[in-house]
Amino acid sequence: MTKRKDRSTAIRKLKRRVPSGESREYYKRRLKKPKASCALCGSALQGIGEGAKSSRRPTRKFAGNLCHRCGSKVLVEAQRVREKGKSMEDVDIVLRKYVQGLVL
Ligand SMILES: [Zn+2]
Repeated sequence: MTKRKDRSTAIRKLKRRVPSGESREYYKRRLKKPKASCALCGSALQGIGEGAKSSRRPTRKFAGNLCHRCGSKVLVEAQRVREKGKSMEDVDIVLRKYVQGLVL
């Protein structure tokens, strides 16, 4: 009988043939799904990948890629470039890719 600790759905049963020719069963814990994180600062994104599929998800610009802090930074920079207060060369290089998408 399988040990109680190996009967969880988080445990996967593996069959492996050993050099002697017999096959053995191993138990391996499944890896956790990596959480969605911000592309710029790496903090975890809220409301993505957890909860019911029908629950409301963020619809803000860059919602699945950037956190609210980095997303708002990008929006502010894009507006400055649009109003000619700042040139694209003066925008922080890590933000430039996202700002370009909004300005063009
Ligand atoms: Zn961020």
